[in-house]
Amino acid sequence: MKLPKKKKSERQLLEKELDKLWSKCVLTRDKYKCQYCRQEGNNPHHIFSRSNKNTRWDLENGITLCVSHHTFNSNFSAHLAPRNWWIWLEEKRGKKWVDQLEQRANISAKGLDLQAIKIYLTQILNKLI
Ligand SMILES: [Zn+2]
Repeated sequence: MKLPKKKKSERQLLEKELDKLWSKCVLTRDKYKCQYCRQEGNNPHHIFSRSNKNTRWDLENGITLCVSHHTFNSNFSAHLAPRNWWIWLEEKRGKKWVDQLEQRANISAKGLDLQAIKIYLTQILNKLI
């Protein structure tokens, strides 16, 4: 017997919508260029994991990468060679910036207003395009 698919809650659907909006904002802001190699890039990467909801839709927590520097390059990529990736990021943005973002990522996201985030990201996107 096939189990019925669990219906997504309204909140989950809204989160999915925000993920899409966030991705579009990051890519548009970065002009679809990998911020490492400046080649074409269409991978919006979360600097601190998506599981940190407090920064999941924070545009500072997003950076555009090409697929190689996002996932596959064994010398430099956010997922496969994270050590070099973090060194580069700290050089690019400064340690203080990274530390502050990390602090924000670790704050509890209880009571996060998803509707307000949606309005905010939509406004940003409209300004960017
Ligand atoms: Zn790249």
